[in-house]
Amino acid sequence: MAETHEYKRPVPKMRGFAAEFYAYCKQHELRFQRCADCRTWRHVPRDMCAKCGSFAWEWAQSSGKGTLFSWTTAMQPMLPQFADLVPYSPVVVELEEGVRMLSWLTDVEDADLQLDLPLEVVFDDVTPEVTLPKFRRAG
Ligand SMILES: [Zn+2]
Repeated sequence: MAETHEYKRPVPKMRGFAAEFYAYCKQHELRFQRCADCRTWRHVPRDMCAKCGSFAWEWAQSSGKGTLFSWTTAMQPMLPQFADLVPYSPVVVELEEGVRMLSWLTDVEDADLQLDLPLEVVFDDVTPEVTLPKFRRAG
C-alpha cells in the first residue's frame, strides 16, 4: 500500500493546523476540530466556531465512517505528478460527524461511484513522515 521512498506526488505542507491534523493521521487517527462550547464539528481547521463564535475547541476523534458526497473525474492531470493516474476521481466524503473532506478512494472504480456509497477511512503511509487519510467501501 505505501510507496515508501518512491512517492512522487505532492504532500501536504506540515505547518499550523495541517501539521496537527496530519500528526494524528500518522498515528492512524482521523481527528477533526470540535467546538468545546456548542460541540459542533468543523473542517477545514480554523480558529473560530462558525456556529457560536467560540475560540475553544479540541481535536476530537472521528468514527472514520461516512458516505460519498460528491466527486469529479479528472481527464487531464492538474500536475505532472498525477499524469499516470488519469483518469482519476478525487472525492468529497461526508463523515458521520457532519464534516466533509476531500480524499481518495482506494478500491472503487470510477464506473462504480455512486452518491451515498458507505465508506470508511484507511491510512496510507506514503512516506516515513506523511500519512494520508483515504477511504474504501465500508464492510
Ligand atoms: Zn461552537
